[in-house]
Amino acid sequence: MTRLSKLSRSLVGKTAIVTGAASGMGRATAFLLADEGANVAVVDLDQAKVDAVVQAIQNEYGPQRAIGFAVDVRHTEQLQSVVDKTVSAFGSLDIVINNAGISLSSPANSSNDDFLSAWDTTLAINLSAYVHLVRAALPHLKQSSSGRIVNVASTESIVATPTLSAYSASKSGVTGLTRSLAVELGKDGITVNCICPGPINTGMTEAIPSDMKSKYAQRHVSLRRYGEPEEVAHMTVSLCMPAMSFVTGASIVVDGGMTIRHT
Ligand code: NAD
Repeated sequence: MTRLSKLSRSLVGKTAIVTGAASGMGRATAFLLADEGANVAVVDLDQAKVDAVVQAIQNEYGPQRAIGFAVDVRHTEQLQSVVDKTVSAFGSLDIVINNAGISLSSPANSSNDDFLSAWDTTLAINLSAYVHLVRAALPHLKQSSSGRIVNVASTESIVATPTLSAYSASKSGVTGLTRSLAVELGKDGITVNCICPGPINTGMTEAIPSDMKSKYAQRHVSLRRYGEPEEVAHMTVSLCMPAMSFVTGASIVVDGGMTIRHT
């Protein structure tokens, strides 16, 4: 059957690296990329958790469709090795999803040691690692017919919460990095976008009691609930499709209408 449209939504034959893919939105994104036909490199800290995600994808789609790496994204040389091994396993690299992240609360007036430790760790994982992975992946993304980078930021780059200055600064950095890379890499046909999720039920928010989540959502979120990881993953994966060829430098809010709500 001939199709009337020209641009493809299929990810068959594409290869993606997803960081922080053992939990929450990263895992949902890895599964969805695999559902849509991509080969997936799963990157996270814990070997057993990485193996579980890789196993789930392999069980569904075959042993050749997923590979795993237990890596701390702060180690730049290990990111280079992830890229090298992914390309040698799958033959190409088309998609980078920078998703691994942490949120450390530290008031600005806490002790120097506490504050600086939270600041340095947060910036290293949530921001510096993102650009290090992009730099390692660039030679391969340039060879792709549809190179895609999606960075996970947060609504904390738009609004703010007390004691989360490091987190908010890191996520604002991600939106700036996204725009800058989009401008720089446009000539290579690579798109660079970021997602700003609102409150989502993941590992990061699991310690918040459900009655507090519900009270918060009733008061702040237009849809009156927390989002689920897959609801964010669908936006992330859409940005990776070959058809998504003229969207770059965008910060896309996926927050159930939280940041637009006034009353
Ligand atoms: P999550 O805790 O379920 O997943 C984050 C994953 O990142 C974990 O598996 C963790 O092990 C991994 N990770 C953390 N540090 C790492 C490191 N140094 N090296 C490798 N992996 C590391 O949380 P999530 O909510 O799915 O987080 C995904 C992204 O979404 C993060 O960047 C987070 O800041 C962002 N985010 C989350 C929310 C939310 O409400 N959950 C809202 C906005 C943005």
